[in-house]
Amino acid sequence: MIQTLHIVKEYKEELIYPAICRAFETLEIAKDIHPGMKVAIKPNLILAKSPDVSATTHPMVIKAVAQWLNEHGITDITLAESSGGLYTAEYMNNIYKVCGMKQLEPQIKLNMDFSAGNINCPEGFANHSFHIITPILEADYIINICKLKTHAMTGYSGGIKNLFGVIPGLEKPQLHYLWPELKDFSRMLVELAQTVSPQVTVIDAIDAMEGNGPTGGTVYPLHMVLAAKDFYTQDYFASKLMGLDPMKIEMISQAVALGLARPDEIELIGDPVPKEITPFKVPDSLSLDFSDFLPGAFGKLFAKFAAKVLKSYPQVESNQCVGCGKCAESCPAHIIEIKNRKAVFKKKGCISCFCCQEMCPVKAISVKKAL
Ligand code: SF4
Ligand code: SF4
Repeated sequence: MIQTLHIVKEYKEELIYPAICRAFETLEIAKDIHPGMKVAIKPNLILAKSPDVSATTHPMVIKAVAQWLNEHGITDITLAESSGGLYTAEYMNNIYKVCGMKQLEPQIKLNMDFSAGNINCPEGFANHSFHIITPILEADYIINICKLKTHAMTGYSGGIKNLFGVIPGLEKPQLHYLWPELKDFSRMLVELAQTVSPQVTVIDAIDAMEGNGPTGGTVYPLHMVLAAKDFYTQDYFASKLMGLDPMKIEMISQAVALGLARPDEIELIGDPVPKEITPFKVPDSLSLDFSDFLPGAFGKLFAKFAAKVLKSYPQVESNQCVGCGKCAESCPAHIIEIKNRKAVFKKKGCISCFCCQEMCPVKAISVKKAL
C-alpha cells in the first residue's frame, strides 16, 4: 500500500499544487483516467463555516486537484456533497458560498441536482443497499478529499467517515437512529465506504482539527497533504499521526478485521513524518466517556448500569444558544425542541450521536456525564 505524505506549510496555490502533482505521480493516477470521464470530487462540507476554522475541506486543495485533472484532459468535474443539514438548492448554495467553493467555478461544477438513487451494497452484512446522491452514482471516477479531524462520536474523521456525506440530507440522522450503537454505526460506515469505493483519497491536513471535532474543535496546523488509493489503511496511518490508537477507532479496527486496512503493508513515499507532532486533543465526549474502561469482571447487569451512568450526553449552554433549530433538525431521536428561541433537550431517548453538537453553528452544545 503506497501512502504519500507531503509537507505543505500554508494554503498557497504554489505550495499545494506541486504536492498534489507529486502525490498523484507516485500513485500513478494518470494511468486510471482518460479524457471524457466524469469525475466526482467528494469534499467535506459538513456545515456552512469559513475554511479558516478547519471544519471543511479547503477550496485550494480541491482547486489543485481540479487543475491536475484539467492538465490530464479531464474537464467534467462535479463537486458532490450532501452537508449535515438539508439537501436543497437554497441550503447547498449557502454552503458553497460560505465554505469558499464558489471560487472553484467554472473549473468545477457545484452540484445542483438534488436527486438520489439506490445502489446495492454487495459486501453488506447489515446494509444491503444505500440511497446516495446522484453525482456520485453517475461518476466514472471518485476522488475523496476529506479533512483530518477528531470526531465526537467516532473519535476520528478521515476518508471512511467523509463518505457519509453521500447520503442525502436528513437521511443521515435516520441512519444514526437505525444504528445507535457505535459498533453498528461504524459497520454501516465501512459498508458504505465499500459501496462508494473512491479511487483515490486525499486528506487535507494542512490545518487539521483537534478537540471537539468535527465542527467545534480548534485548528491544529499539521502542515501536510496525505494521499492514497487505499483509504482504509490511510485512515489507520493518519489516526496514528494524530496520536490516537487506530485500533480504538471502531470503524478502523473493523476495517482491519475485515482485511480492508493493512497497516503492515504501508510504504511511505514523500516527506518523512515530522518528529515534533504532539498528540491531538480528543473530544470531550470521549475524554468524559469511561464506559469503555469498565473491568470485564463487572457483572453483566452492573456493567450495563455503570455504562449508562458514565456515558456522556450533550448539554445546551442557553446563554450561547441563538435558537436556530439546526440541532433539532439533525437529531435522529427527535428529542430537541426550540422554546422561546432556545433549544430544550428531553431527558430520555438520546443516543449520544452528537449530531446536534456537530451542527450547532455557535458551539452552544457541550458535553456532560449522565451522573
Ligand atoms: S440530542 Fe444530540 S446526541 Fe442526543 S440523539 Fe439528539 S442529536 Fe444525538
Ligand atoms: S443549540 Fe445551537 S444549533 Fe441548537 S438552536 Fe441553539 S444555537 Fe442552534
